[in-house]
Amino acid sequence: MSKQGILSIDQGTTSSRAIVFALNGQQVSNMQQEFTQHYPANGWVEHDPEEIWKTTLESSKTALEQASKKGVSVACIGITNQRETTLVWNKQTGKAIYPAIVWQDRRTAQYCESIKKQEEFVRAKTGLLLDPYFSATKVKWILDEVEGARHLASQGKLAFGTVDSFLIWRLTDGKSHVTDASNASRTNLFNIHTQQWDAELLELFDIPANMLPEVLDCADDFGITSKRVLGQSLPISGVAGDQQAALVGQSCFKAGDLKSTYGTGCFALLNTGEEAVMSSHKLLTTVGYRLNGVTSYALEGAIFTAGANIQWLRDGIHVLDHAKQSQVLAESLDYDHGVFLVPGFAGLGAPHWNPNARASLFGMTRGTGPAHFARAALEAVCYQTHELLNAMENDGISSSAVWVDGGMVANDWLCQFLADILQIEVQRPKIMESTALGAAYLAGLQEGLYKDLDDIASHKAVDRTFSPELGEPTRARLLKKWHLAVEATLAFAE
Ligand code: ADP
Repeated sequence: MSKQGILSIDQGTTSSRAIVFALNGQQVSNMQQEFTQHYPANGWVEHDPEEIWKTTLESSKTALEQASKKGVSVACIGITNQRETTLVWNKQTGKAIYPAIVWQDRRTAQYCESIKKQEEFVRAKTGLLLDPYFSATKVKWILDEVEGARHLASQGKLAFGTVDSFLIWRLTDGKSHVTDASNASRTNLFNIHTQQWDAELLELFDIPANMLPEVLDCADDFGITSKRVLGQSLPISGVAGDQQAALVGQSCFKAGDLKSTYGTGCFALLNTGEEAVMSSHKLLTTVGYRLNGVTSYALEGAIFTAGANIQWLRDGIHVLDHAKQSQVLAESLDYDHGVFLVPGFAGLGAPHWNPNARASLFGMTRGTGPAHFARAALEAVCYQTHELLNAMENDGISSSAVWVDGGMVANDWLCQFLADILQIEVQRPKIMESTALGAAYLAGLQEGLYKDLDDIASHKAVDRTFSPELGEPTRARLLKKWHLAVEATLAFAE
């Protein structure tokens, strides 16, 4: 009998990937294609929907072929995706009427500002802030600005979806217009308490209900892929936004479980169980996952640039040749090297949410060099994670460990300093592809390949645990300096 596998489609911000996992979480095949970022105006970020589709389809077909050559038969598909990115397409032709407006896009900032007094109303229902980041104002922009869009929408001819929804529509040849509760919870249109699209929010953002996808559980029957399109008829059985999928991939299934992903940016998600904890510290309240109609909520904190700080050192100011080098350089200094980087390259995220903040460097001398830059860039990510965990703790929930993943955590020095600053254990898993793995787990759960969440969690394996070692006086001294640097950065932004 051939071995069974699950295809996970991970449609990200810079690339589309397809990975076939064996049921124990090991990778069988892996295909990835980058695609073009479009910046048509200041603060605008778009993707070509056809390029998203083509790179996803080609990667999926290749991963399936490679798996088949290795004797693995794929039973089902899971999808995870860049969140909030917004598409509107014609239900008759399946063609998008405008490029995908990416989560990073700020074009609706002024509009958000103009209805700022509605923020509490929106937040109470959605757990989110009123910000261009989320999908609602992007949909409204497309309807208002694309010629004929409102007319088509009034005739029920347009569909809205986040990337998962668009891919499912295409993979099923237009048969399914669906999404999952975690993606829906990022739109600013979904009431996370009633678990339904919210009529008052649709009215506020002037979006017709007939455009919206049906919202399913994260493990559910999303549709069957068209043989004509993919070459095989396979059930799509699991869907979650990328950060939520990582929460599942890291088996963070209990209230208090925490994962933090360190890629281009950093996203920390804390499972709060069946209670939707509303933050008093500008963290987002979001759907972690919904299974069998039961929602597990999460508190989320975002740091806009994490690995991007290292990219800037490498590609922007050429202080590094490789990201990896940051570790050796950081190790060459001691704790009191004195340089602090507040990396507000794209503003500061949680718990500040200050879009006007800019990156600032403090404490340079004539002796400052590449090692200081590298170390300050890595340290900053740890200090910022400390701010997020502090906010979570002040909202009433603390964790005794954090599960980490993403490209940056290959850096041992970073993981150790993170443990030192957070004063909790940092657990690095053996399987680092948490996001893609989470989508595969959800699909496998729906298809009965896993009995339950405990069965999934039994595959969890630690690569290395980093325990706090730094003495409290040093830690307190460093954190005090960091807070001064942040305060000065915020003051400069005013
Ligand atoms: P994404 O999924 O957001 O594209 P990845 O999870 O692939 O990101 O991580 C890539 C990021 O990790 C890059 O920004 C890179 O600078 C950073 N990175 C990779 N290796 C290291 C390392 N050894 N030390 C520090 N940062 C690293």
